[in-house]
This record gives sequence, C-alpha cells and structure tokens, in this order.
Amino acid sequence: MGGEAEDGRGVRAVLLGPPNSGKGTQARAIARRLGIPAISTGDMLRDAVAAGTELGRRVGEVLAAGELVDDGTMARVVRERLARPDTAAGFLLDGYPRTESQAETLTEILAERGEELSAAISIDVPEAILVARARGRGREDDREEVMRERLRVYREKTAPLVGYYEKRDQLRVVDGDRPVEEVTSQIFVELGVPESEVA
Ligand code: AMP
Repeated sequence: MGGEAEDGRGVRAVLLGPPNSGKGTQARAIARRLGIPAISTGDMLRDAVAAGTELGRRVGEVLAAGELVDDGTMARVVRERLARPDTAAGFLLDGYPRTESQAETLTEILAERGEELSAAISIDVPEAILVARARGRGREDDREEVMRERLRVYREKTAPLVGYYEKRDQLRVVDGDRPVEEVTSQIFVELGVPESEVA
C-alpha cells in the first residue's frame, strides 16, 4: 500500500536556512531515508569549480567571496538537474532557491511538469548560535569574513523567501537549535511523512 504522501515519494521540498543551520545534513539524512535525491546547488557549484568546467571557471570567485551566483546561471543549473530521471519520485533542494526570482523559476519548472512544491522547510537557528558554530569549527579570520558575508547575503536576499512561502501556505518552520535527530524527526512531521514508515 502506501500512497505518495505515506511513503515519502512525491515529496518535493526545499530546505531554507542560514549557513551553519544544518540544512545540508538534514537534507542528506531525509533524502536518504525517503530514497529521493538531495540536491545541493552549493555542492554542484563546488564540483564544477574543482573540475574546472566552464561553469566552474565562471563562478569560482563568486563562491570564494560568499556572494550569490546570478539567477540566470542558477536557473540553468537547476533546470538541468531537475530534468534528470531520479527526480521523478521526488527531491529535496538544499540551497535553492536563494532569491525570490529563483523561487519563481522553481515554481515554473514544477508547473511545466504538472507538479507543485510539497513544502518549504525553514530551519530556524538564532544568529548567535550560527556564529558560535562557525567559531567551533576554528575558522581562520579570512574564512570568518566570508562566513559573515554569507550571513549578510542570507539576511538580505534569502530570508525574505520565508515570507514568500508563508504567503503561499507552503512554509513550515522547524527549530534547528536542537540535536540533529530531533530536527530530522520534526522535518518528517512537517512533510506529513510518518517516520515509522521510512527506512
Ligand atoms: P551552499 O553550500 O549552499 O552554502 O553554497 C555555497 C555557495 O554556492 C554559496 O555561497 C553561493 O556562492 C553559491 N550558491 C549555491 N546555491 C546558490 C544559489 N541557489 N544561488 C546563488 N548562489 C548559490
């Protein structure tokens, strides 16, 4: 048995959250248990930089500075990734969208497939905790500079997406200042997937 919502297939969700909120960890844990891909645009871009592809050469400096890659480039990256067959049964996006324009692009891509987003999960962590987590990693000064810039960019460009998804009744807020497993359980609740039924 098990319809779409019950076994987690058909989950098409985005994870929103500031740098160091644990969103990548959560995306991977949840996607693994649901058997759907966790798509991290940050990982895709870092891979492109490491491989020295045309894309990687174009975005390398932007990543190093903690700025955002332009929306047009990101639209192509995400459109191509979502066209791969492994997304047919659902996916979790980690790091996309990061601007309102990107959110509109995602809505369009899904609409073309006759699909909608299941939910936008916002992982909420107080800023003081984010900074403490960054320090705990023993970053050097220059890395801390980049971390601050990433936080600033998040506040300015990405945090407004919380309101964007709230207006569309798709927002679910999860307290991220808790042990990893508790956050994971709460995300399953918000996705409407009974945790007992996933691997
Ligand atoms: P992340 O691992 O998600 O923190 O992403 C690392 C870096 O990749 C970010 O600081 C940005 O420079 C870039 N990046 C990742 N996703 C996006 C996106 N959706 N829009 C613009 N830039 C992005």
